[in-house]
Amino acid sequence: MKPAQFDYFAPAKIRDALALLEEYKDEAKILAGGQSLMPLLNMRLARPRALIDINRITSHSYIRRENSVLAIGALTRHREIETSPLVRQKCPVLAEAVRWIGYPQIRNRGTMGGSLAHAHPAAELPAVVTALRGELRVIGPAGERTVKAEEFFQGFFTVALEPNEILSEVRLALWPKNAGFSFKEINRRHGDFAIAGVAALISLNERKECAESSIVLAGVNPTPLRAKRSEKLLKGRKITRDIIETAAALAAEDSDPPSDVHGSADYRRELVKVIVRRALEEAGARAMQNEK
Ligand SMILES: Cc1cc2nc3c(=O)[nH]c(=O)nc-3n(C[C@H](O)[C@H](O)[C@H](O)COP(=O)(O)OP(=O)(O)OC[C@H]3O[C@@H](n4cnc5c(N)ncnc54)[C@H](O)[C@@H]3O)c2cc1C
Repeated sequence: MKPAQFDYFAPAKIRDALALLEEYKDEAKILAGGQSLMPLLNMRLARPRALIDINRITSHSYIRRENSVLAIGALTRHREIETSPLVRQKCPVLAEAVRWIGYPQIRNRGTMGGSLAHAHPAAELPAVVTALRGELRVIGPAGERTVKAEEFFQGFFTVALEPNEILSEVRLALWPKNAGFSFKEINRRHGDFAIAGVAALISLNERKECAESSIVLAGVNPTPLRAKRSEKLLKGRKITRDIIETAAALAAEDSDPPSDVHGSADYRRELVKVIVRRALEEAGARAMQNEK
């Protein structure tokens, strides 16, 4: 099928894009990489009156370090994140996770902002950005505001964005040098959306106990799910096999997965147990390695 008719605009400035959003209100759609929106248009599941293509707003494509934060412009392509030495060095869990998104052709076009605004429950970036305690900068007619990732993802494909707002930047807190990380997911073929996924980070104190951890699941809840009971359990404890097993079991208990053609809820819960265990083993081992 082909999309229904729409007016097409390609502003080069964010203020022009905002003016168009004001004019068309919820009858407009932002077009970034198009990797999620184009299929929806082609199947006529979305029929916007206006398409506002933001690809010419090149000022919003960047990756830069600002003190203890990694700032990534909303229009930054997945491939730029995947190949960035800065991301690999300062935020390796993001570099690891982005490789799991679709295929090279999709990563060449898809953007950080598009993935977060689309908020597919099994997408990698919403989970990683939540795990990194990310903050999202949003621009609207009244100016700029910042939303915590945990508050941005509100429900199934639903985010805290008004129809007249644009997601402009993602800010990720950098973890200490001695932190260990892991990203794991299970899918049928590499490139498919995750049946279940997890982003995990662990930092150690001077006694080599867990100082801080972050465990966020994808694909098992309408939004990225922080495994808070598992995080609490790890704090102040040595990362032993027993603790990891218990933390993984808690994460599985706390997940609320769907049943669909890819697997039942029980199967997904079992996957959570397995991938959280693997992720914590890897993150813990990397943290110990980085301590040396
Ligand atoms: C075959 C295939 C496999 C895929 N596999 C995966 C996968 O494994 N994991 C995964 O996470 N994704 C996957 N994707 C989706 C891909 O990652 C998309 O790139 C991403 O979900 C959307 O990014 P985009 O830039 O293409 O956004 P678009 O498709 O252009 O937009 C998506 C939505 O976000 C809105 N939007 C975009 N940018 C902004 C902004 N700056 N401010 C406000 N709203 C905005 C749009 O209006 C639209 O509603 C796959 C896609 C395909 C076609």
